[in-house]
Amino acid sequence: MNDLDKFREYAHKVVDRMVDYYRNVENYPVKSLVAPGDIYDLFPELPPATGEEMDEILRDFDEKIIPGMTHWQSPNFFAYFPANSSYPSVLAEMLTATLAAQCMIWETSPAAAELEEKMMNWLKQMIGLPAAWEGVIQDTASTATLASLITAREKRSEYRINEEGFSGHERFRIYVSTETHSSIEKGVKIAGFGRSNLVKCKVREDLSFDPEDLRARIEEDLKAGYTPLAVVATLGTTSTTAVDPLREIGEITRAYDLWLHVDAALAGSALILPEYRWMIDGIEQADTFVFNPHKWLFTNFDCSAYFVKDREALLRTFEILPEYLKTSTHGHVNDYRDWGIPLGRRFRALKLWFVIRSFGVSGLQAMLREHLRLAGFIRDEVEKDPSFELMAPVPLNTVCFRYHPENTTEEELDRLNTLLLDKVNRSGKAYFTHTRVKGKYTIRFMIGQTHTREKHVKNAWELIRTVSRSLS
Ligand SMILES: *Cc1c(COP(=O)(O)O)cnc(C)c1O
Repeated sequence: MNDLDKFREYAHKVVDRMVDYYRNVENYPVKSLVAPGDIYDLFPELPPATGEEMDEILRDFDEKIIPGMTHWQSPNFFAYFPANSSYPSVLAEMLTATLAAQCMIWETSPAAAELEEKMMNWLKQMIGLPAAWEGVIQDTASTATLASLITAREKRSEYRINEEGFSGHERFRIYVSTETHSSIEKGVKIAGFGRSNLVKCKVREDLSFDPEDLRARIEEDLKAGYTPLAVVATLGTTSTTAVDPLREIGEITRAYDLWLHVDAALAGSALILPEYRWMIDGIEQADTFVFNPHKWLFTNFDCSAYFVKDREALLRTFEILPEYLKTSTHGHVNDYRDWGIPLGRRFRALKLWFVIRSFGVSGLQAMLREHLRLAGFIRDEVEKDPSFELMAPVPLNTVCFRYHPENTTEEELDRLNTLLLDKVNRSGKAYFTHTRVKGKYTIRFMIGQTHTREKHVKNAWELIRTVSRSLS
């Protein structure tokens, strides 16, 4: 299809589909019920030799793609973490797709570079980071964390590892807690530190990083001849949303001159609420910070906000300047290709701009407060019900619990809860996922989907209770 009038016709049809989708999304099974291979086998072995009609493609989208989708935008999605979207964000994504600009340097789209700089400054104020820090949009928190670890490596080695490689250098150590996200381990591997140099410290009763254990492990490593390099603290761990004690960890990193990266992928959004600012008490001691507006700030994936204290260190680590990318403005403007790993970049600031303007800070705050209130409601329900057990504190939007009828062995509890989760998810009415808390199988009730309201949360809780009664 190469005809602009046809494009207009189908663009309108697609918009109608989008609206119908949002209207009907509650009627689809939240978690796709297809089996492995079901979807793959629906498509021909060979690509079409000649072009097909858009009507046919769209019909196949309805019949073959939708049934194989898990509906993250369903208000009954309570699994993993939210992958937020919102109407203003989708509108911006349509325009971004239309412009289809490569925003690698300022000259390849000045508006994209300057709006990104402005949006990072808005976000920085919204979440209360130090005014002197600077921000850049990365695709994911995983990439931002990798960038942070590589910057730590380069700054400490005086940019020599970039030149010479690792051989002959000290054995660096990176410290995390046992609850830290798997992306840190991936980053440690990719950055060349070696997984055996990732030190997993103990957590306290509430599953947050134990600073005493951190100090002890650093001391041990120093005695053994290692070079402690960096610590990653988490605000809102993936399993239970535990919040690491940033001030105490920061004091240790300062005392030993270590790099400190803060992974607030999910929980960073809650910092727009003054009542959650306690989480970044001590942030001035950190070096880098990442959070994902694409998780819990109503902005489509991908949009990860990465903030750094030392912009020069970031640029010195990643800067490249081949002849074909030389411009007269270099050095006077932000060329974001030098602020991270990929060269090519989408215009991602546009959706943030649409979202923040359309809802306003107070609108965003109200939506987050409602999610947090509903999480508090579920926590109370779990605590009130003698056949359920709360498995972790609830500092944010995720309630960890299990079904726990009287006189049941641990082994039997694991089996019962696995069954409960499976039956609930198979009903198609809601979708939950699990974790293990101190080794025990635990169901997570995450409340953060853009369209989730009180009735969805109450219905989902009733569903869990009803299904649990049918198990015994
Ligand atoms: C989701 C999450 C990540 C990974 O985020 P991506 O953007 O998918 O890389 C990392 N850390 C924490 C704490 C998370 O919740």
